[in-house]
Amino acid sequence: HSPAPAVSLQLTVNSPQQMGELGRRLAKILRPGDLVMLTGELGAGKTTLTRGLGEGLGVRGAVTSPTFVIARVHPSLGDGPPLVHVDAYRLGGGLDEMEDLDLDVSLPDSVVVVEWGDGKVEDLSDDRLHVVIHRAVGDTTDEVREVTLRGLGGRWAGADLTVLSA
Ligand code: ADP
Ligand code: MG
Repeated sequence: HSPAPAVSLQLTVNSPQQMGELGRRLAKILRPGDLVMLTGELGAGKTTLTRGLGEGLGVRGAVTSPTFVIARVHPSLGDGPPLVHVDAYRLGGGLDEMEDLDLDVSLPDSVVVVEWGDGKVEDLSDDRLHVVIHRAVGDTTDEVREVTLRGLGGRWAGADLTVLSA
């Protein structure tokens, strides 16, 4: 069965810069072993959020949309966890391809962020932070996003996500 929702937060993000800032704030509350799943259509801002997260974690290398690779590891420049950034778009639902990535091996010591992972990576952990990004309805600037964060599992049960909306 799915774990009950623990914590959730909805916020409006008004620009790519603000999305980066959200990522930098999120980095402050993440720790090794955390799995973050990003859901949203193409251009929603998943990679933009992940870039801010990488900045907040202080990792090496720019976070980009990986064109040829499915997973990219950004080692920490300090003593923090590495960021494993996965774009599962071209990944089939098959277990074989998933297993080749060895995410189960890297997860305990890393922050793992997965774009397009719905239906593919849930088995990795019952503790997950789901982030859903929507373009705001009626926004003609295409700069406004509605972001919903939802923590699942014991890891997130006592967490306070309100620090993200400061
Ligand atoms: P995804 O990874 O979800 O496909 P990207 O982060 O690669 O999306 O691209 C998002 C695009 O939308 C970028 O060109 C970014 O500049 C633009 N954008 C406009 N407003 C926002 C916003 N509020 N948050 C994130 N990206 C935004
Ligand atoms: Mg992307």
